[in-house]
Amino acid sequence: MTQHPGPGDSGLIFNEPVIFERGAPGRKGYSLPESELSGGEAEVDIEKELLREQEPLLPEVSEFDVIRHFTRLSQWNYSIDTGFYPLGSCTMKYNPKVNEAVASMPGWTQLHPLQDEDSIQGALELMFHLQQDLAKISGMDAASLQPAAGAQGEFTGLLMIRAYLESKGNPRKKVLIPDSAHGTNPASCAACGYEVVTLKSSSTGVLDPETVRQAMDEDVAALMVTNPNTLGLFETHIQEITKIVHDQGGLVYCDGANQNALIGKARVGDMGIDVLHFNLHKTFTTPHGGGGPGSGPVAVKKILEPFLPTPVIAHKEGHYYFDKNRSQSVGRVKSFYGNFGMLIRAYTYIREMGAEGLKQVAERAVLNANYVRVKLQDDLHLPYPQICMHEVVFSDKKQSEVGIKTMQIAKRLIDYGYHPPTVYFPLIVAGALMIEPTETESLHTLDSFIAAFKQILEECEIKPRLILDAPEVTHIRRLDEVRAAKQPHYIYTTKSEKQFKKHILKFLNSL
Ligand SMILES: *Cc1c(COP(=O)(O)O)cnc(C)c1O
Repeated sequence: MTQHPGPGDSGLIFNEPVIFERGAPGRKGYSLPESELSGGEAEVDIEKELLREQEPLLPEVSEFDVIRHFTRLSQWNYSIDTGFYPLGSCTMKYNPKVNEAVASMPGWTQLHPLQDEDSIQGALELMFHLQQDLAKISGMDAASLQPAAGAQGEFTGLLMIRAYLESKGNPRKKVLIPDSAHGTNPASCAACGYEVVTLKSSSTGVLDPETVRQAMDEDVAALMVTNPNTLGLFETHIQEITKIVHDQGGLVYCDGANQNALIGKARVGDMGIDVLHFNLHKTFTTPHGGGGPGSGPVAVKKILEPFLPTPVIAHKEGHYYFDKNRSQSVGRVKSFYGNFGMLIRAYTYIREMGAEGLKQVAERAVLNANYVRVKLQDDLHLPYPQICMHEVVFSDKKQSEVGIKTMQIAKRLIDYGYHPPTVYFPLIVAGALMIEPTETESLHTLDSFIAAFKQILEECEIKPRLILDAPEVTHIRRLDEVRAAKQPHYIYTTKSEKQFKKHILKFLNSL
């Protein structure tokens, strides 16, 4: 790559210098007429030693420089709007644009969270119905829309479990979690003061009731399960397992971050679950990635309803209101009422799909994942060969025999224009490659992806160099990821990035 590119490097693939290299001294991003107001410097009451002596070394750029810079950088991004994104456990499904159209209506965007109830009846009505819809979809009795992400939903759910058990006289000490769980599960337990007991998954990838029975005692507050689990498998013994926990006075939490395989088809409430969180930014098509905001509502059974975060949106005689009069509530977990813009998008999606549409979501998500499973199962090792739910987990076992690892296969997929799947998760599968195609992709997309994948696996055998050096055609080649993790400030591998580091350091020093 050239260091100071003209319009581009090759054809229309632009390179982009760092913004400090754009612009020129004295250049401004605005041109305004001279102010008609007279008067000198504004009076500012800041102590002298706190005032800076020299201007910070900000880039001096025109509006056009800024627009081109950031637009070009945005074009370097891979997103669900630009291509197939088969990231298992993260459900990168298409975000319908009608969600955006509805969420940007001025009636919503010009609301203020401190307005009084009478003037925001429409917003409360939407939240009330979304609470009800989420409870209904999951077979629960009530819901809170407050949590800002899946992990915060877990935290909220566990706080409620603790409050419930405390109200019975003993909050208990431990939470049981299968070894395939998402890392947020043990983290949320620790944040709520619970000790984590790890349960081993059986050889078929699901939780064995016997394992739960042996670990269960009067010190166990809850079992935290993910269903479908992170191997993409349905927990076939879930009803027996929830009964074992309930019989000893414990509760069952379900990590429902990925409900793509269940919505409209099965309800975790019917399986004995007491509380679950949804990820609206996974299952319900609100945007995902790029820093959020996310949304992780929790739905609960009747016994936990008194402990829901306050306020709950309630309805009485044609009037919607904030029910703040809740003496057993765990309190507020998020400023105001959650990420409201996400709630509008999710509600729009549910209304757009309807009950029949949501059922088709689950059917097609499962069909697509199984299509990928069957098409690739001769080429990749499949540790759990049964029918999967919305995602399928392969491993690099066959390819490691010729020295090729999951990470290298993932990098080569980038050269073929695909975002890599989730890698090395769940932890119980060595060299895991977790693919979740989602229901929004067409047969044509799946076939092209499968063809690319097969070609890469062929390269592993006949042209391993190509795999080891991938990615080849990206702006930036292979990053030193180990070093990046150990020394986060040192990810600079290309010349232009070294320049960036130099400029950033100079800028920071000038502050
Ligand atoms: C994504 C995910 C979470 C965490 O959700 P965040 O919104 O990222 O906090 C928890 N559990 C599972 C299974 C997930 O896939």
